[in-house]
Amino acid sequence: MNASECIFCKIVAREISSKIVYEDEKIIAIEDINPAAPLHILLIPKQHIASLNEVEEQDAGILGHIQLTASRIAKKKGISKKGYRVVNNCGVWGGQTIAHLHYHLLGGREMAWPPG
Ligand code: 5GP
Ligand code: ZN
Repeated sequence: MNASECIFCKIVAREISSKIVYEDEKIIAIEDINPAAPLHILLIPKQHIASLNEVEEQDAGILGHIQLTASRIAKKKGISKKGYRVVNNCGVWGGQTIAHLHYHLLGGREMAWPPG
């Protein structure tokens, strides 16, 4: 998919509206439009990277930054003590539906394992 047609690039560019919970120069975190848990936030790098299959050594900083931000948001939203889940769906079998790298932060209920 071309980055100019990408839903998450459009959200980053404010061409599509979203409920933003955190933003800095590298990433944006938004509420998922179809939440799978009481708290469901998407952490999205502003740079268009199609999936975890496409990351390079140079992307290590952004990947670390996303995890640190997920941890901070979980604390701020009050879900850290009971626990939560951070998920990346990669490719067709991983269940990825939007071809712009993103991590799901899910919390507010007990999670099952293994995932479906
Ligand atoms: P994936 O299935 O690719 O791992 O996750 C894509 C996620 O993006 C889904 O949980 C879906 O509900 C969410 N989503 C799809 N379109 C939009 C949108 O326009 N706005 C927001 N906030 N979330 C979206
Ligand atoms: Zn994109």
